[in-house]
Amino acid sequence: MVAVQQGKVLVTGANGFIAMWVVKQLLDQGYVVRGTVRSESKAKHLRDVFSHYGDKFEVVIVEDITKLGAFDEYVKDVDAIEHTASPFHFKANDPDELIVPAVQGTTRILESALAHGKNVKRVVITSSVAAVIVVQSTPRTYTEADWNDGAIQLVREEGAKAPNPMKYRASKTLAERAAWEFVEKNKGKLGWDLAVVNPPYVFGPAIHEVGAPETLNESMYDWFHTVFKGSKTKEQLSSTGACWIDVRDLAEAHVLAIKKQEAGGERIIVSQGAFKWQDFISSAQRFYPTVSPGDETYDPAKATHMVQYDTSKAAKLLGIKYRSIEESTKDMVEDFKARGWI
Ligand code: NDP
Repeated sequence: MVAVQQGKVLVTGANGFIAMWVVKQLLDQGYVVRGTVRSESKAKHLRDVFSHYGDKFEVVIVEDITKLGAFDEYVKDVDAIEHTASPFHFKANDPDELIVPAVQGTTRILESALAHGKNVKRVVITSSVAAVIVVQSTPRTYTEADWNDGAIQLVREEGAKAPNPMKYRASKTLAERAAWEFVEKNKGKLGWDLAVVNPPYVFGPAIHEVGAPETLNESMYDWFHTVFKGSKTKEQLSSTGACWIDVRDLAEAHVLAIKKQEAGGERIIVSQGAFKWQDFISSAQRFYPTVSPGDETYDPAKATHMVQYDTSKAAKLLGIKYRSIEESTKDMVEDFKARGWI
């Protein structure tokens, strides 16, 4: 399949934390972008932020991404699609609150691309390592061959009683599985191919609309409240963490996933590396000395990371370079200072 070096790109959920950076980088690299949002009230901020790109950027309203034909009108003249819209939070009681929009939203965009996207050559879906990991009691490095079917199983068995993070993980696994199954089922009929990007926790400065720390997206809510609001104990700071990527590097990965021919048909894990929360606290202290020091006995060299990712495929296919903890932390601190939150 021919990669997309120029032309028009549809970005779903364009007002989100990650999507805003995807839109920005696409525009900066010369693409014309159409973003979808759920309501007119979510369109204004996007129009304001990207006003200097003139007619290279437009916003359209797709009220319900689960509705049949929801995207039909908007895929007709685009060359590529970046599907990011999907709920990411740990507050759902009924797992279907997450699963239905995740799976049906994914299916609807692919159906529209198949039926009406005559110019579409590449569809990129923002999945997650939530669709990859099955946390074990010993440290492990995961690859693109791993699938979190355990979350699906658990949520099927326990329903609303399943732990909330598992409901989110099930939604991402089911949505990504649905995408690959759609491609398999329609083999021979598609004028495009699929690339899936699987990021871990995403941190970085925000350019989407956020009025207060309480309304930050899930990952940045956790970062802000851990670093500046003491939401974790000393013991948790040095013993818990995950893997992460800067939002701008992830946006770059989304652009590269439409630019690089070799990304077609691939599931690609992108990750800067593993962290303990104390790593971010120690770094934030350098840029904002009044941050509470956390666990001063922490030694990063002795930290055990239960989950790591083999990112060799991303290096080979996309060649992304990752920002360091210092660089991202500095920019997040600057962002929060400018907002008057710290
Ligand atoms: P945000 O919450 O900032 O953005 C989510 C986007 O999805 C928004 O545009 C939102 O629209 C839209 N959305 C949410 N629920 C629905 C729904 N029911 N119907 C239609 N649209 C919906 O989150 P992120 O930017 O962090 O997440 C974007 C994507 O990245 C998601 O697919 C998420 O799973 C994935 N991801 C995020 C990670 C992270 O750490 N942030 C890590 C790994 C993957 P609205 O504003 O109208 O609700």
